[in-house]
Amino acid sequence: MAKGNQRDYYEVLGVSRTASVEEIKASYRKAALKWHPDRSPANKQEAEAKFRESTEAYCVLSDQQKRQVYDTYGHAGLSGAGAGVDFNGTFFQDFHDIFGDFFGFEDMFAGGGRRRGRTQRGADLRYDMTLTFEEAAAGVATKVKLPRQEYCEACNGTGAKKGTGVVACATCKGRGQLAYQQGFFTITRTCPACQGAGQIIRERCPDCRGQGRIEREKVIELRIPPGVDTGTRLRVAGEGEPGPNGGPAGDLYVVLEVKEHAFFERRGADLYCTIPISIPQATLGTELQVPGLNGEERLKIPEGTQSGAVFRLKGKGLADPRGGGKGDLYYHVRVLTPTKLTREQRKLIEDLGASLKIENKPAERNSSIFDKVKDIFG
Ligand SMILES: [Zn+2]
Ligand SMILES: [Zn+2]
Repeated sequence: MAKGNQRDYYEVLGVSRTASVEEIKASYRKAALKWHPDRSPANKQEAEAKFRESTEAYCVLSDQQKRQVYDTYGHAGLSGAGAGVDFNGTFFQDFHDIFGDFFGFEDMFAGGGRRRGRTQRGADLRYDMTLTFEEAAAGVATKVKLPRQEYCEACNGTGAKKGTGVVACATCKGRGQLAYQQGFFTITRTCPACQGAGQIIRERCPDCRGQGRIEREKVIELRIPPGVDTGTRLRVAGEGEPGPNGGPAGDLYVVLEVKEHAFFERRGADLYCTIPISIPQATLGTELQVPGLNGEERLKIPEGTQSGAVFRLKGKGLADPRGGGKGDLYYHVRVLTPTKLTREQRKLIEDLGASLKIENKPAERNSSIFDKVKDIFG
Protein backbone atom coordinates (compact mmCIF):
# COMPACT_ATOMS: atom_id res chain seq x y z
CA MET A 1 0.00 0.00 0.00
CA ALA A 2 1.44 3.37 -0.95
CA LYS A 3 2.02 5.29 2.22
CA GLY A 4 1.00 8.50 0.52
CA ASN A 5 -2.52 7.16 0.14
CA GLN A 6 -2.86 6.27 3.76
CA ARG A 7 -5.41 8.12 5.74
CA ASP A 8 -4.40 9.92 8.86
CA TYR A 9 -4.81 7.66 11.88
CA TYR A 10 -6.59 10.36 13.89
CA GLU A 11 -8.95 10.87 11.02
CA VAL A 12 -9.57 7.14 10.73
CA LEU A 13 -10.64 6.93 14.32
CA GLY A 14 -12.34 10.32 14.25
CA VAL A 15 -10.46 11.66 17.26
CA SER A 16 -8.47 14.83 17.85
CA ARG A 17 -4.67 14.83 17.97
CA THR A 18 -4.85 15.40 21.69
CA ALA A 19 -7.30 12.55 22.33
CA SER A 20 -6.68 10.48 25.44
CA VAL A 21 -6.00 6.75 25.30
CA GLU A 22 -9.50 6.21 26.65
CA GLU A 23 -11.04 8.27 23.84
CA ILE A 24 -8.98 6.42 21.24
CA LYS A 25 -10.03 3.10 22.68
CA ALA A 26 -13.69 4.03 22.80
CA SER A 27 -13.56 5.31 19.26
CA TYR A 28 -11.78 2.21 18.02
CA ARG A 29 -14.34 0.00 19.66
CA LYS A 30 -17.09 1.84 17.92
CA ALA A 31 -15.32 1.55 14.59
CA ALA A 32 -14.40 -2.10 15.10
CA LEU A 33 -17.94 -2.87 16.09
CA LYS A 34 -19.25 -1.12 13.02
CA TRP A 35 -16.76 -2.68 10.61
CA HIS A 36 -16.25 -6.09 12.06
CA PRO A 37 -16.50 -8.39 9.00
CA ASP A 38 -18.73 -10.82 10.82
CA ARG A 39 -21.25 -8.10 11.34
CA SER A 40 -21.34 -6.86 7.77
CA PRO A 41 -21.68 -9.99 5.70
CA ALA A 42 -23.14 -8.01 2.78
CA ASN A 43 -20.02 -5.97 2.05
CA LYS A 44 -17.43 -8.08 3.80
CA GLN A 45 -14.51 -6.78 1.76
CA GLU A 46 -15.17 -3.16 2.49
CA ALA A 47 -15.84 -3.97 6.12
CA GLU A 48 -12.61 -5.90 6.41
CA ALA A 49 -10.63 -3.04 4.88
CA LYS A 50 -12.21 -0.54 7.26
CA PHE A 51 -11.70 -2.86 10.17
CA ARG A 52 -8.04 -3.27 9.30
CA GLU A 53 -7.59 0.46 8.87
CA SER A 54 -9.07 1.30 12.22
CA THR A 55 -7.22 -1.56 13.90
CA GLU A 56 -3.95 -0.31 12.48
CA ALA A 57 -4.74 3.19 13.67
CA TYR A 58 -5.62 1.89 17.08
CA CYS A 59 -2.44 -0.17 17.36
CA VAL A 60 -0.33 2.86 16.72
CA LEU A 61 -2.25 5.49 18.63
CA SER A 62 -2.81 3.34 21.70
CA ASP A 63 0.91 2.76 22.03
CA GLN A 64 2.65 5.79 23.47
CA GLN A 65 5.96 5.18 21.75
CA LYS A 66 4.47 4.53 18.34
CA ARG A 67 2.11 7.43 18.67
CA GLN A 68 5.04 9.74 19.37
CA VAL A 69 6.88 8.45 16.29
CA TYR A 70 3.73 8.86 14.22
CA ASP A 71 3.12 12.39 15.52
CA THR A 72 6.65 13.38 14.60
CA TYR A 73 7.26 11.54 11.32
CA GLY A 74 3.85 10.40 10.11
CA HIS A 75 3.38 7.04 8.38
CA ALA A 76 6.93 7.14 7.04
CA GLY A 77 8.38 7.11 10.54
CA LEU A 78 6.63 3.90 11.44
CA SER A 79 7.59 1.85 8.45
CA GLY A 80 11.22 3.01 8.47
CA ALA A 81 12.17 2.66 12.09
CA GLY A 82 10.82 -0.82 12.45
CA ALA A 83 8.42 0.55 14.95
CA GLY A 84 5.57 0.06 12.57
CA VAL A 85 3.02 -2.65 12.39
CA ASP A 86 3.53 -5.43 9.94
CA PHE A 87 0.20 -5.78 8.28
CA ASN A 88 0.52 -8.97 6.43
CA GLY A 89 -2.22 -11.53 6.47
CA THR A 90 -0.96 -13.35 9.51
CA PHE A 91 -0.91 -10.23 11.59
CA PHE A 92 -4.50 -9.61 10.76
CA GLN A 93 -5.30 -13.19 11.51
CA ASP A 94 -3.51 -13.05 14.86
CA PHE A 95 -5.29 -9.91 15.73
CA HIS A 96 -8.54 -11.40 14.68
CA ASP A 97 -7.88 -14.44 16.84
CA ILE A 98 -7.16 -12.33 19.86
CA PHE A 99 -10.21 -10.32 19.16
CA GLY A 100 -12.28 -13.42 18.79
CA ASP A 101 -12.90 -13.18 22.51
CA PHE A 102 -12.67 -9.42 22.52
CA PHE A 103 -15.66 -9.42 20.30
CA GLY A 104 -17.60 -10.50 23.27
CA PHE A 105 -17.82 -6.73 23.55
CA GLU A 106 -20.53 -6.83 20.98
CA ASP A 107 -22.57 -7.88 23.92
CA MET A 108 -21.55 -4.86 25.92
CA PHE A 109 -22.77 -2.59 23.21
CA ALA A 110 -25.85 -4.62 22.64
CA GLY A 111 -26.62 -4.39 26.33
CA GLY A 112 -25.93 -8.06 26.85
CA GLY A 113 -29.12 -9.00 25.13
CA ARG A 114 -27.50 -10.90 22.36
CA ARG A 115 -25.59 -13.28 24.56
CA ARG A 116 -28.63 -14.29 26.50
CA GLY A 117 -30.71 -14.65 23.39
CA ARG A 118 -28.24 -16.98 21.75
CA THR A 119 -29.32 -20.58 21.76
CA GLN A 120 -26.75 -23.27 22.22
CA ARG A 121 -26.86 -26.98 21.94
CA GLY A 122 -26.91 -28.79 25.26
CA ALA A 123 -24.02 -30.92 26.47
CA ASP A 124 -23.70 -34.53 25.42
CA LEU A 125 -23.85 -37.04 28.22
CA ARG A 126 -22.01 -40.29 28.62
CA TYR A 127 -23.37 -43.26 30.45
CA ASP A 128 -21.19 -46.31 31.08
CA MET A 129 -22.94 -49.62 31.23
CA THR A 130 -21.68 -53.12 31.94
CA LEU A 131 -23.39 -56.14 30.40
CA THR A 132 -22.93 -59.83 30.99
CA PHE A 133 -21.73 -61.82 28.02
CA GLU A 134 -25.18 -63.38 27.63
CA GLU A 135 -26.92 -59.98 27.68
CA ALA A 136 -24.58 -58.70 25.00
CA ALA A 137 -25.11 -61.81 22.91
CA ALA A 138 -28.89 -61.77 23.11
CA GLY A 139 -29.46 -58.03 23.18
CA VAL A 140 -31.38 -56.43 25.99
CA ALA A 141 -34.10 -53.89 26.58
CA THR A 142 -33.37 -52.04 29.77
CA LYS A 143 -34.00 -48.81 31.60
CA VAL A 144 -31.32 -46.56 32.94
CA LYS A 145 -31.68 -43.86 35.54
CA LEU A 146 -29.76 -40.86 34.48
CA PRO A 147 -29.10 -37.85 36.68
CA ARG A 148 -29.45 -34.94 34.34
CA GLN A 149 -29.60 -31.16 34.57
CA GLU A 150 -33.02 -29.98 33.55
CA TYR A 151 -34.57 -26.58 33.36
CA CYS A 152 -36.14 -25.24 36.50
CA GLU A 153 -39.71 -24.55 35.54
CA ALA A 154 -40.43 -22.46 38.64
CA CYS A 155 -38.12 -19.67 37.46
CA ASN A 156 -37.99 -20.47 33.73
CA GLY A 157 -34.33 -21.17 34.10
CA THR A 158 -33.45 -17.66 35.28
CA GLY A 159 -32.61 -18.70 38.84
CA ALA A 160 -34.54 -15.73 40.23
CA LYS A 161 -37.42 -16.21 42.62
CA LYS A 162 -40.73 -15.60 40.89
CA GLY A 163 -41.58 -11.89 40.84
CA THR A 164 -38.19 -10.70 42.12
CA GLY A 165 -36.45 -10.22 38.78
CA VAL A 166 -32.80 -9.54 38.24
CA VAL A 167 -30.50 -6.54 38.40
CA ALA A 168 -27.59 -5.73 36.15
CA CYS A 169 -24.28 -6.89 37.60
CA ALA A 170 -22.49 -3.93 39.18
CA THR A 171 -19.02 -5.33 38.55
CA CYS A 172 -19.35 -5.55 34.77
CA LYS A 173 -22.27 -3.13 34.39
CA GLY A 174 -24.35 -5.85 32.86
CA ARG A 175 -21.86 -6.72 30.16
CA GLY A 176 -20.94 -10.10 31.52
CA GLN A 177 -17.31 -9.45 30.68
CA LEU A 178 -14.54 -7.29 31.96
CA ALA A 179 -12.19 -5.64 29.52
CA TYR A 180 -8.70 -4.53 30.39
CA GLN A 181 -5.73 -3.24 28.53
CA GLN A 182 -2.70 -5.39 27.90
CA GLY A 183 -0.14 -3.85 25.59
CA PHE A 184 -1.96 -2.96 22.38
CA PHE A 185 -4.80 -5.19 23.06
CA THR A 186 -7.90 -5.08 25.06
CA ILE A 187 -8.43 -8.45 26.62
CA THR A 188 -11.76 -9.48 27.95
CA ARG A 189 -12.60 -12.13 30.42
CA THR A 190 -15.78 -13.41 31.89
CA CYS A 191 -16.99 -11.35 34.81
CA PRO A 192 -16.34 -13.36 37.96
CA ALA A 193 -19.16 -11.69 39.87
CA CYS A 194 -21.95 -12.85 37.57
CA GLN A 195 -20.15 -15.65 35.66
CA GLY A 196 -20.83 -13.82 32.43
CA ALA A 197 -24.57 -13.60 32.82
CA GLY A 198 -24.44 -9.81 33.17
CA GLN A 199 -27.09 -9.89 35.81
CA ILE A 200 -27.38 -10.74 39.44
CA ILE A 201 -30.33 -12.40 41.01
CA ARG A 202 -32.04 -10.41 43.72
CA GLU A 203 -33.62 -13.39 45.40
CA ARG A 204 -32.80 -16.95 44.52
CA CYS A 205 -35.43 -19.30 43.22
CA PRO A 206 -36.07 -21.72 46.09
CA ASP A 207 -36.55 -24.68 43.76
CA CYS A 208 -33.16 -24.56 42.05
CA ARG A 209 -31.30 -22.41 44.62
CA GLY A 210 -30.60 -19.83 41.93
CA GLN A 211 -29.01 -22.26 39.47
CA GLY A 212 -31.86 -22.11 36.96
CA ARG A 213 -31.42 -25.83 36.57
CA ILE A 214 -32.34 -28.78 38.66
CA GLU A 215 -30.75 -32.17 38.73
CA ARG A 216 -33.40 -34.71 38.06
CA GLU A 217 -33.27 -38.41 37.53
CA LYS A 218 -34.53 -39.26 34.12
CA VAL A 219 -35.41 -42.82 33.24
CA ILE A 220 -34.42 -43.69 29.70
CA GLU A 221 -35.36 -46.87 27.93
CA LEU A 222 -32.54 -48.48 26.04
CA ARG A 223 -32.75 -51.21 23.47
CA ILE A 224 -29.36 -52.76 23.11
CA PRO A 225 -29.04 -54.82 19.92
CA PRO A 226 -27.56 -58.33 20.08
CA GLY A 227 -23.85 -58.72 19.44
CA VAL A 228 -22.53 -55.54 21.07
CA ASP A 229 -19.01 -55.60 22.40
CA THR A 230 -16.84 -53.70 24.83
CA GLY A 231 -16.38 -50.20 23.46
CA THR A 232 -19.64 -50.19 21.52
CA ARG A 233 -21.12 -46.72 21.74
CA LEU A 234 -24.84 -46.26 21.36
CA ARG A 235 -26.14 -42.80 20.60
CA VAL A 236 -29.51 -41.80 21.94
CA ALA A 237 -30.35 -38.60 20.11
CA GLY A 238 -31.74 -35.72 22.13
CA GLU A 239 -31.32 -37.32 25.55
CA GLY A 240 -28.34 -35.22 26.65
CA GLU A 241 -28.65 -32.02 28.63
CA PRO A 242 -31.08 -29.38 27.44
CA GLY A 243 -29.53 -26.48 25.57
CA PRO A 244 -29.30 -23.12 27.34
CA ASN A 245 -31.98 -20.62 26.36
CA GLY A 246 -34.18 -23.27 24.85
CA GLY A 247 -31.48 -24.63 22.54
CA PRO A 248 -31.61 -28.21 21.30
CA ALA A 249 -30.66 -30.95 23.72
CA GLY A 250 -27.37 -32.78 23.39
CA ASP A 251 -27.13 -36.51 22.81
CA LEU A 252 -26.69 -39.35 25.22
CA TYR A 253 -23.90 -41.82 24.51
CA VAL A 254 -24.13 -45.18 26.18
CA VAL A 255 -20.69 -46.76 26.30
CA LEU A 256 -20.77 -50.50 26.83
CA GLU A 257 -18.48 -52.87 28.59
CA VAL A 258 -19.14 -56.56 28.08
CA LYS A 259 -17.88 -59.02 30.68
CA GLU A 260 -15.83 -61.92 29.44
CA HIS A 261 -17.34 -65.35 29.24
CA ALA A 262 -15.91 -68.22 31.27
CA PHE A 263 -15.07 -70.27 28.18
CA PHE A 264 -16.18 -68.48 25.02
CA GLU A 265 -13.51 -66.27 23.57
CA ARG A 266 -14.75 -63.64 21.23
CA ARG A 267 -13.14 -62.42 18.00
CA GLY A 268 -15.55 -60.07 16.32
CA ALA A 269 -18.73 -62.04 15.84
CA ASP A 270 -16.95 -65.41 16.01
CA LEU A 271 -16.68 -67.44 19.19
CA TYR A 272 -13.97 -69.89 20.20
CA CYS A 273 -14.20 -72.62 22.77
CA THR A 274 -11.63 -75.21 23.77
CA ILE A 275 -12.90 -78.74 24.45
CA PRO A 276 -10.61 -81.26 26.12
CA ILE A 277 -10.94 -84.90 25.03
CA SER A 278 -9.17 -88.04 26.18
CA ILE A 279 -6.72 -90.13 24.14
CA PRO A 280 -9.27 -92.94 23.65
CA GLN A 281 -11.95 -90.39 22.57
CA ALA A 282 -9.57 -88.85 20.05
CA THR A 283 -8.47 -92.24 18.82
CA LEU A 284 -11.81 -94.00 18.55
CA GLY A 285 -14.11 -91.03 18.02
CA THR A 286 -17.07 -89.99 20.13
CA GLU A 287 -20.04 -87.69 20.30
CA LEU A 288 -20.08 -84.92 22.91
CA GLN A 289 -22.61 -82.49 24.32
CA VAL A 290 -20.87 -79.12 24.26
CA PRO A 291 -22.01 -75.68 25.36
CA GLY A 292 -23.39 -73.41 22.64
CA LEU A 293 -24.58 -69.85 22.73
CA ASN A 294 -28.20 -70.97 22.96
CA GLY A 295 -28.06 -74.22 24.88
CA GLU A 296 -26.13 -77.39 24.15
CA GLU A 297 -24.72 -78.43 20.82
CA ARG A 298 -23.68 -81.87 19.62
CA LEU A 299 -20.07 -82.22 18.62
CA LYS A 300 -19.09 -85.39 16.76
CA ILE A 301 -15.43 -86.23 17.20
CA PRO A 302 -14.41 -88.49 14.34
CA GLU A 303 -12.06 -91.40 14.73
CA GLY A 304 -8.43 -90.39 14.69
CA THR A 305 -8.95 -86.73 15.67
CA GLN A 306 -5.67 -84.93 16.33
CA SER A 307 -5.06 -82.53 19.16
CA GLY A 308 -5.61 -78.98 17.86
CA ALA A 309 -8.36 -79.92 15.41
CA VAL A 310 -11.00 -77.23 15.02
CA PHE A 311 -14.66 -77.83 14.32
CA ARG A 312 -16.94 -75.08 13.16
CA LEU A 313 -20.63 -74.53 13.70
CA LYS A 314 -21.57 -72.05 11.01
CA GLY A 315 -23.82 -69.18 12.02
CA LYS A 316 -23.81 -70.17 15.67
CA GLY A 317 -21.66 -67.23 16.74
CA LEU A 318 -22.72 -63.74 17.68
CA ALA A 319 -24.95 -61.43 15.73
CA ASP A 320 -23.52 -58.37 14.05
CA PRO A 321 -25.18 -55.47 15.90
CA ARG A 322 -25.23 -53.45 12.69
CA GLY A 323 -27.60 -55.97 11.16
CA GLY A 324 -25.15 -58.14 9.22
CA GLY A 325 -25.02 -61.90 9.42
CA LYS A 326 -23.93 -64.06 12.27
CA GLY A 327 -20.51 -65.23 13.26
CA ASP A 328 -19.43 -68.84 13.65
CA LEU A 329 -18.75 -70.96 16.69
CA TYR A 330 -15.44 -72.81 16.73
CA TYR A 331 -14.58 -75.77 18.92
CA HIS A 332 -10.91 -76.28 19.37
CA VAL A 333 -10.15 -79.82 20.46
CA ARG A 334 -7.29 -80.52 22.81
CA VAL A 335 -6.28 -84.07 23.55
CA LEU A 336 -5.46 -84.29 27.22
CA THR A 337 -2.48 -86.31 28.27
CA PRO A 338 -3.19 -88.02 31.59
CA THR A 339 -0.88 -86.93 34.39
CA LYS A 340 -1.97 -89.16 37.24
CA LEU A 341 -2.26 -92.85 36.50
CA THR A 342 -3.12 -95.79 38.67
CA ARG A 343 -0.81 -98.76 38.50
CA GLU A 344 -3.32 -100.55 36.28
CA GLN A 345 -3.63 -97.59 33.86
CA ARG A 346 0.11 -97.26 33.64
CA LYS A 347 0.35 -100.91 32.66
CA LEU A 348 -2.27 -100.42 29.93
CA ILE A 349 -0.44 -97.43 28.48
CA GLU A 350 2.85 -99.29 28.58
CA ASP A 351 1.30 -102.19 26.69
CA LEU A 352 -0.23 -99.75 24.19
CA GLY A 353 3.12 -98.04 23.75
CA ALA A 354 4.82 -101.33 23.10
CA SER A 355 2.39 -102.25 20.35
CA LEU A 356 2.00 -98.76 18.80
CA LYS A 357 4.99 -97.77 16.76
CA ILE A 358 5.42 -94.12 15.84
CA GLU A 359 8.22 -92.38 13.99
CA ASN A 360 9.25 -89.28 15.92
CA LYS A 361 10.31 -87.19 12.96
CA PRO A 362 9.31 -83.55 12.57
CA ALA A 363 5.85 -82.94 11.24
CA GLU A 364 5.37 -80.88 8.12
CA ARG A 365 4.62 -77.27 8.77
CA ASN A 366 0.99 -76.31 8.81
CA SER A 367 0.24 -72.98 7.23
CA SER A 368 -2.61 -72.25 9.55
CA ILE A 369 -4.70 -73.81 12.22
CA PHE A 370 -7.71 -73.01 10.07
CA ASP A 371 -6.60 -75.53 7.45
CA LYS A 372 -7.72 -78.06 9.96
CA VAL A 373 -11.17 -76.56 10.46
CA LYS A 374 -13.92 -79.04 9.79
CA ASP A 375 -17.49 -77.95 9.43
CA ILE A 376 -20.04 -79.74 11.47
CA PHE A 377 -23.30 -80.55 9.74
CA GLY A 378 -26.45 -81.76 11.37
ZN1 LIG B 1 -20.83 -9.22 36.05
ZN1 LIG C 1 -35.52 -22.07 39.68
